[in-house]
Amino acid sequence: MQKHVLIVEDEPAIRDMLAFALRKGDFVPMLASDAREAQMQIAERVPDLILLDWMLPGSSGIELARRWRRDALTRDLPIIMLTARGEENDRVGGLEAGVDDYVVKPFSARELLARIRAVLRRSREDDADGSVQVDALRIDGAAHRVFADLDGTATPVQMGPTEYRLLHFFMTHADRVYTRTQLLDHVWGGSVYVEERTVDVHIRRLRKSLEPYRLDPMIQTVRGAGYRFSAAT
Ligand code: CA
Repeated sequence: MQKHVLIVEDEPAIRDMLAFALRKGDFVPMLASDAREAQMQIAERVPDLILLDWMLPGSSGIELARRWRRDALTRDLPIIMLTARGEENDRVGGLEAGVDDYVVKPFSARELLARIRAVLRRSREDDADGSVQVDALRIDGAAHRVFADLDGTATPVQMGPTEYRLLHFFMTHADRVYTRTQLLDHVWGGSVYVEERTVDVHIRRLRKSLEPYRLDPMIQTVRGAGYRFSAAT
C-alpha cells in the first residue's frame, strides 16, 4: 500500500518540488501551507509521515510538532523537519519537541526519500514488506497472508481485506488501547462515511477468524475505551 506523506510548507515552489519528489518515490503527497490546513488534512486522513517546515506563518513548525505529540491521534506519527542551513539550535529544539529527524535545505530528492524511508522503517515494528509476528500469529506482508504458527506448522488464517488491515494495524501497535474513532482513522483512513459500530462488526469477524486457533483473546475489549491487541497469555 502506498504511504501518504503530509507536506506542511508555506512556499509553493518548495511544496511542489517536495510533492513531485514524493510521487517519484511512490508516496502519495498531501499538501498544506500552514497549521490550519495541516489540521484539516489530518482530520481527513491520518498520514504515514509528516514533512514539516520550520518557518511557517502563524504557528511555527515546532509548535505544531509539540501539539501533534500531545494528541493521541498523531502521537506516534513520524515527523521530519525541514530546516535552513546552520540553524543548529532549531534542530536541537526540534528533536526535543519529538521530531524524528530533520533535513537541511537545500536537499536533493534522493536524500529526502532516503530519510523518509529510514524514519518509516524505524517507526514501524514490522519489516519493510509489512511482515510482522506476535507470538503464534504471523503476517506475511509480501504474500498478504496471515498464518497461525502452531505446533511447528504454519496454517493459513482466512480473513477479509478489512480484517487483514485491522489485524496488521493491531500487530504493529500492540499493547496500546485505541478508540473506535482512532481505529477508523488509522485503518479506514478517516472516511466520514463509516460509522463507529462498523469497527465492532469487523472486530467480531476478526475474532471469528482467529477462534479456531484460540488466538482470538489477543483482540481485547477495553470497557469504555475501545480495543487493544496483546500477545496471547
Ligand atoms: Ca517556510
